[in-house]
Amino acid sequence: MTIINTTVPLGLIKNIDDYSRIINEILKHDVSFNILKFSTTSEGINLLLDVPEEKIKTITESLTKNNILVNKKGRVIVDKNLCINCGSCISLCPTDALHFKEDLQLEFSEDKCIGCLLCIDSCPRFAIQESR
Ligand code: SF4
Ligand code: SF4
Repeated sequence: MTIINTTVPLGLIKNIDDYSRIINEILKHDVSFNILKFSTTSEGINLLLDVPEEKIKTITESLTKNNILVNKKGRVIVDKNLCINCGSCISLCPTDALHFKEDLQLEFSEDKCIGCLLCIDSCPRFAIQESR
């Protein structure tokens, strides 16, 4: 299974149940999946999903055709000057984009980040910010 981050953009939302557009679109392809997180953000309704790796292409094409955003990568920045390497953000990151190096310093791998934003509120130093 692989984690993807999906968003129904604010402009397309008429009521809170509109998140079901994501679910119904995926179910059309006879896929079983897990919903890891549901949230509303300034950008829209966000679902973090665990889906079968072999179905990623089909799901992505199907969702983007319906103007649903998928897998926006690298959406946070980490201020190394503020970070105290406490590790609090690491335990929340579903993709290992945040991890310790051998010297126990935090490392952020932007290419692994799926922009779920789970890490932002975990930082006691406000070292992680959403990039625009
Ligand atoms: S937004 Fe934060 S928690 Fe989510 S994948 Fe990126 S680094 Fe990890
Ligand atoms: S939670 Fe903040 S201070 Fe702690 S390791 Fe992550 S970025 Fe650094």
